[in-house]
Amino acid sequence: MNSLASAPTISIEKKAATRRVETRSQEPGRQNPKIAIVGGGPGGLMTAYLLQKKAGRALSISVFEAADRLGGKILTPQFKMAPVNYEAGAAEFYDYSPVDEDPLKELIQELGLPITKMGGNGVSLKGHWIGNLDDLEAHLGPGARQQWVRFHQQTRDRMTPLDFYLSGSEESTPSPKVCDSRDSFAECLKSIESGELRHFIKTQIHSDLATEPECTNVEYGLQNYVMNDPAYMQLFGIEGGNERLPQELVRRTRADFRLQHRVHSIEKAESGQFEICYSKDSDKQYEAFDYVVIALPHDALPHVRFEGHRLQAAMQSHYEHYHHPAHYLRLTLLFRSPFWQGKLNDSYCMLDDFGGCCLYDESSRLVEPEFGVLGWLLGGTEAIEYSKLSDSQLFELALNSVPKFLGDARPHFMEGRVHRWLNAVNAIPGGRTSRPIHQRHCPEPVDNRELYVVGDYLYDATLNGVLDSADYVSSGIAAAVHFES
Ligand SMILES: Cc1cc2nc3c(=O)[nH]c(=O)nc-3n(C[C@H](O)[C@H](O)[C@H](O)COP(=O)(O)OP(=O)(O)OC[C@H]3O[C@@H](n4cnc5c(N)ncnc54)[C@H](O)[C@@H]3O)c2cc1C
Repeated sequence: MNSLASAPTISIEKKAATRRVETRSQEPGRQNPKIAIVGGGPGGLMTAYLLQKKAGRALSISVFEAADRLGGKILTPQFKMAPVNYEAGAAEFYDYSPVDEDPLKELIQELGLPITKMGGNGVSLKGHWIGNLDDLEAHLGPGARQQWVRFHQQTRDRMTPLDFYLSGSEESTPSPKVCDSRDSFAECLKSIESGELRHFIKTQIHSDLATEPECTNVEYGLQNYVMNDPAYMQLFGIEGGNERLPQELVRRTRADFRLQHRVHSIEKAESGQFEICYSKDSDKQYEAFDYVVIALPHDALPHVRFEGHRLQAAMQSHYEHYHHPAHYLRLTLLFRSPFWQGKLNDSYCMLDDFGGCCLYDESSRLVEPEFGVLGWLLGGTEAIEYSKLSDSQLFELALNSVPKFLGDARPHFMEGRVHRWLNAVNAIPGGRTSRPIHQRHCPEPVDNRELYVVGDYLYDATLNGVLDSADYVSSGIAAAVHFES
């Protein structure tokens, strides 16, 4: 990935545009604070919605989105051969309400979006179904059962449901056994003697981790382990598709949503405003804003130039601190019917194919599905390696991996889809050491204190985390514009 430091200088074209900006900001009716949100994914849209709610005055909000749609990695497309939805990006929402307040669930309720519970805890190991401890013992032996009980209890002692809930927040005070450990999660798994049990546990969590146990820390590894326990959290989806969340946020937010507007550079001008350089088609344009929110995933940051020594250095340090890329590959297959019905009663299960992947029964989101949809979520090294194969090779491998006890998938297969999400998620969210909350969101608070960053990678790499981040930033800007008014 290119260094953030490799920022060429600004061209003459810019000077002309700067003049245009100055003229525009003197126009009557342009007195409202101008806020640019870069990125129209969940983070950007949540920030815009919350800002409008909290500001207590009119704002002029512009959302710059490089793609031709809003919603980022919440994406619910349809197949070509039948009008059937599937989740191509974020598949589920994490529900922390059994432990404490859950702002994401509250937001979804506030927007009036109906939800469906999701769940699953079965694992298919070489075609053997392990749905409970008795199955585990039958397949791996009584020693493995005892070791599992010990590991599970130790993990619960190290990370309670409240520790898990607070992880990433400033109130977080997890056990030193978790946080002071410089070990990788792979070291932690070595405490399990049985290689077969280790394989089972890795299979259970590999697709959630989106990386390998040696590439993440103990805290994130354990978080991904305990999330299988309903005492820690539960799961749900939005009826009609998860993409209804960004769509509803857009519907309720008064902002200028600019699709196919890619932001290239940001610089604080002498006027004190930030000048944004963006392109629509191939045409570069410049515009000035009072506040800027960078709501981009970590891997998109190097593609934006931050001008000015202090801002450039701060954004470089920010990027390096959070640079722990992780990877997903999602394969989704449409079938003439849900031929496995009655044999898989959960929303998903884990398979030990593809280095450990999650198999979603996408049709379980519907009451009486006419067609069947299965989705494979591969993570980490396998996501990278299998991404190199063609779509049709991947469909073959997916069909071969359907556990025999579910039935013969091949005669029912209609259409497949592949979504490659390399570098799109984070292997050590929050970085190796936790940064204070303001530093996370305002990388250069001296000369560039009106430039904020929103991201899931600042918390836990989930939609809950990106909402926490949007909440913090929208509160900061709302307080500042209120003070100015
Ligand atoms: C396969 C997969 C499965 C996941 N599953 C879950 C899950 O089940 N539950 C969960 O909570 N989370 C899940 N996540 C994580 C979740 O998707 C993210 O937390 C969330 O999308 C982060 O939102 P964001 O707005 O920060 O980034 P994004 O969703 O990536 O949105 C960023 C937006 O910025 C735009 N952009 C990029 N560069 C520019 C630029 N230069 N100028 C303008 N616009 C730009 C992009 O086009 C995009 O629309 C999953 C992620 C993936 C990839």
